[in-house]
Amino acid sequence: MTEGESNRRIKYAFQLPGWSFENGNRDRLRREAVKVAPSEYQVEMDGSTFCPVCYTNLNRVPKQKEHFSNGREAYFCHLAAYKEIKCDLRSSRPEGKRYETHEEAQKAIDDENLVIVNGFMKEKPELPQDAGDGYDETPIEDLAGPISDIPIARHTGESFKLPSKITTVAGICRNFDENLYKYYYFPNQKHSIRLVDLLHSVEKIQEEHDEPKLYYGVIESTVHLGEHKRPDNIRMTYLKNNQPGLQDFCIKLEDRHQKSHGITDASVGRTVIVYGEVSDNGTGLCFKNLGWGELALLPKKYEDLLG
Ligand SMILES: [Zn+2]
Repeated sequence: MTEGESNRRIKYAFQLPGWSFENGNRDRLRREAVKVAPSEYQVEMDGSTFCPVCYTNLNRVPKQKEHFSNGREAYFCHLAAYKEIKCDLRSSRPEGKRYETHEEAQKAIDDENLVIVNGFMKEKPELPQDAGDGYDETPIEDLAGPISDIPIARHTGESFKLPSKITTVAGICRNFDENLYKYYYFPNQKHSIRLVDLLHSVEKIQEEHDEPKLYYGVIESTVHLGEHKRPDNIRMTYLKNNQPGLQDFCIKLEDRHQKSHGITDASVGRTVIVYGEVSDNGTGLCFKNLGWGELALLPKKYEDLLG
């Protein structure tokens, strides 16, 4: 076990009996393994849990119990036997990724290990004429963005011309477990960073922040304002935050807009992900003026991957 490795960046292990780092096919591991959170680990899985990034064996610590005696939750940890295999998840401090050549960066995009985000969709895209108006419409979550100069080269000052995407938070939430370990480049970043390291908990936010970032929070309450509950009335969706001196922290958007993402009176307890600025709101803070693609409810099955 690597000393001092007690980080929470390994949200799940790939679990596949009989697979081995030395002889196993990685595509098969990715395809067939079950993703197991530290709390889901069973002793019978010993020897069959692997890192989602470097594919070497992981141990659950402590092995027998979900919690340490002091109440801290269990976590996954690399083995010292594989310390020659570099893996940035061994560190509790995230590192940005830089690329040696344009080809290397382009290959990372083609292999879906790197996503260059030019921006998030402000408006809901028009559906094709024949898409109908039923509930089964497939939302468009990504559009091709411009070829952009992206400063993710190994050598400072150099940038690569790479294809970008105009994306949505909903697109990031789909296959969220897969996306967690991809590198993302958001506008104005200095390098590409794994999604797992780009998500900020609303619970820890104390003040305004005028650069947009990716945040997650749990809905504590939500209220549709106005006497007649018109779709254009504001809905205030309050997120958990117990920071001293802060009255509340909410998403302040038209009900129509929130409803289009499934946020209704029934959404208490759900996790929401937002890409936006943190603004002042009286004695509290809020997300406001979000574009259509800048918020989404995280599917319930992924909620345990945060925190
Ligand atoms: Zn690893």
